[in-house]
Amino acid sequence: MSVAQDPDCIFCKIIQGKIPSRKVFEDDEMFAFHDINPWAPVHFLLIPKWHIPSMAQITEEHAPLLGRMMAKVPQLALQEGVNPYPQGGFRLVTNTGAEGGQEVHHLHWHVMGGPRPWLRG
Ligand code: AMP
Ligand code: ZN
Repeated sequence: MSVAQDPDCIFCKIIQGKIPSRKVFEDDEMFAFHDINPWAPVHFLLIPKWHIPSMAQITEEHAPLLGRMMAKVPQLALQEGVNPYPQGGFRLVTNTGAEGGQEVHHLHWHVMGGPRPWLRG
């Protein structure tokens, strides 16, 4: 597994409460909070508590953690107000690397939903 936390990482600071956020969910290994610049009526980020820079670093050893994160997404999406599938639903997006549009280098999954039109996406 990657290093626990990176002192220079903005999302590690959010996990530690050093930078404020609007928390959606937290357990021992993951943290979810509202995106500061939402594209959609519901837009939050789900991140591992370990500092993993991106999906590019993911290997078989991360599969159980990522599986548990994935399993949380539908529950958190409904909790935050997305409409039920299939009329509602959500987008799950992971930008990876510069050409993938990634700006913050701590693995995060965007969960976006709610009535359209959206600002972006
Ligand atoms: P990405 O381009 O996938 O790396 O997305 C980074 C996301 O993090 C963007 O949607 C930002 O709006 C969001 N973001 C950056 N800083 C914060 C913050 N302090 N609190 C919440 N969301 C943030
Ligand atoms: Zn980090």
